[in-house]
Amino acid sequence: MNSNTEKRIALISVHGDPAIEIGKEEAGGQNVYVREVGKALAQLGWQVDMFSRKVSPEQETIVQHSPLCRTIRLTAGPEEFIPRDNGFKYLPEFVQQLLQFQRENHIMYPLVHTNYWLSSWVGMQLKAIQGSSQVHTYHSLGAVKYKAVDTIPLIATKRLAVEKQVLETAERIVATSPQEQQHMRSLVSAKGYIDVIPCGTDIAKFGSVDKQTARAELGIAQDAKVVLYVGRFDPRKGIETLVRAINESQLRDSGKLKLIIGGGFTPGNSDGRERDRIASIVEELGMSEFTTLPGRLSQDILPAYYAAADVCVVPSHYEPFGLVAIEAMASGTPVVASDVGGLQFTVVPEKTGLLVPPKDVAAFCVAIDRILMNPQWCDELGQTGRKHIEAMFSWGGVADRLSELYTQILATKLPERALVSQ
Ligand code: UDP
Repeated sequence: MNSNTEKRIALISVHGDPAIEIGKEEAGGQNVYVREVGKALAQLGWQVDMFSRKVSPEQETIVQHSPLCRTIRLTAGPEEFIPRDNGFKYLPEFVQQLLQFQRENHIMYPLVHTNYWLSSWVGMQLKAIQGSSQVHTYHSLGAVKYKAVDTIPLIATKRLAVEKQVLETAERIVATSPQEQQHMRSLVSAKGYIDVIPCGTDIAKFGSVDKQTARAELGIAQDAKVVLYVGRFDPRKGIETLVRAINESQLRDSGKLKLIIGGGFTPGNSDGRERDRIASIVEELGMSEFTTLPGRLSQDILPAYYAAADVCVVPSHYEPFGLVAIEAMASGTPVVASDVGGLQFTVVPEKTGLLVPPKDVAAFCVAIDRILMNPQWCDELGQTGRKHIEAMFSWGGVADRLSELYTQILATKLPERALVSQ
């Protein structure tokens, strides 16, 4: 292997395109993770190719992010949006296209880092066909997700089997929190190798603007009490809990309260329907005067929104990691979050924010009010949160740890590579 191929990696994210706009249906944390990890790895000297499925003929086939980092869109199935639960049947074509790309460009990826279960299947094929080593990040576990939803999709059996297989056969699984690791062990399999390497955030971008400037920029009164939600419109995100909690706030009729619910949607799609449902609850409860739904917030404007807020609320029913919580803390804003999954790992109760039981309207209300009604404590929580993120959750730090892991796997000679026996 020459030094070039040694530092070459493919990040595979079939349905989570790292080069598209974030914050709409099925485009959230995974897209951000892949893009930011890719860019940070390139800064460490890795040649990073990120593979995704092309979902429109207008999309560029190759997007160059930096000299060593690019997104490559492969045509597999129709060039249109396909919900992820319907994507499995296009994977064999995705594998063929990736192999063809390798042939045409005289590349062979000795290591692939796959994201979400669909991509894990692609990685397992590449391992079988050409001996590529595999690192995998789940982003979401079927075994956890299906416990929380009313209707189990047809693809569930396949997904659960693939998720078990990759845990048992990949060179390494990257869990983004100890809580996720525990779920893998208790719900998926006792076999396989897991490292905990968290998600990160851009600590230069988030935290770059102070509260006063941000409020002036966004036209928000300096004495307002601002509660912020950022994320996709998905019932799993628990936005209804937040709205009902604010309805019970002691500050509800103070004239100072402002609720901002940021997130993109497509009318008629599932996120559009959830957005309409939330908007109608807001109206029903008579909260329209102090509630805004500004739509998708671009990554450029987001630092101002986080900085302008007194508290950022993450009311998810479940969250494997939860990038929004660390983005808010990096911006010096306290977080009130559901006491679940990765949020238990990132939010330090009473130090950087508060954790409350998911779906518990009264508990969210009390926690939000505690922070809003004590401005000095609010500032302290914010400052501690910023330091916490600087110390533990920068993309640079995450990429350092992934780079070390990849190097270690690539240095292991093939016959010695630890494949757990089935
Ligand atoms: N996001 C955004 N604009 C929006 C809503 C969300 O850029 O209007 C981004 C947000 O900043 C975060 C990601 O989408 O980086 C959401 O990631 P998270 O892990 O919180 O949730 P997921 O979408 O993965 O469930």
